[in-house]
Amino acid sequence: MAEAEGGPAFDESSVEQPRGILSTLFHRKSKGKPNGKKPPTEEKKQYLEPDYTKVRVVDFDLKELVVLPPEIDLNEWLASNTTTFFNLINLQYSTVSEFCTGDTCPVMSACNTTYYWYDEKGKKTKCTAPQYVDFVMSSVQKLVTDEDNFPTKYGKEFPNAFDSLVKKICRYLFHVLSHIYWGHYKETVAMDLHGHLNTLYTHFIVFIREFNLMDPKETSIMDDLTEALCTPLPQTPQNHVTER
Ligand SMILES: [Zn+2]
Repeated sequence: MAEAEGGPAFDESSVEQPRGILSTLFHRKSKGKPNGKKPPTEEKKQYLEPDYTKVRVVDFDLKELVVLPPEIDLNEWLASNTTTFFNLINLQYSTVSEFCTGDTCPVMSACNTTYYWYDEKGKKTKCTAPQYVDFVMSSVQKLVTDEDNFPTKYGKEFPNAFDSLVKKICRYLFHVLSHIYWGHYKETVAMDLHGHLNTLYTHFIVFIREFNLMDPKETSIMDDLTEALCTPLPQTPQNHVTER
């Protein structure tokens, strides 16, 4: 009972990725009434500037953190990490949520990709970014606290489809992280939280890569950032920990 694995809200086809400049134009055009809010342009990705990408809260190899430790059950490890990422990404989003409104973000987008939500009946729903994030967070919250899907009690088995459940959660958390970079990077920098965001993003990407939890095609919209962040920093003392 409760949430069946991969219910309609997690439909695989909830992403529309326009390809090429023409489709991008059409895509933008199809957004409906202009409201004076222009989407950030490709040319201005502040989050890719070296002065910003080098800011992290840790400078050690995150790969060591994500590798399955000996004697730990794989599903337990996936469950505990997924739950932690959910909490951290939810927290990170909460720092910009007051700037993420139906006016500033009329659609859930990241790098010219628009994400659509599918309602309980599987109907594609166009929603604002804050609505989308709310759908993501409440669905994931429901799942990770559901003993049938994320068992915590001794002797309780993980469901057969646990792996695909984790994959779906990761996809949605990735959408939220990408949206923070795409739509709210300036606010994040203003609050001096970009080091935390960079570290969280890098940790998350290293984790999903380690366990093949996302199709590289879907994370490709952020490949430029991933490349910048996953490249080890030069070994100079000034380059690490700039946060408190
Ligand atoms: Zn937003």
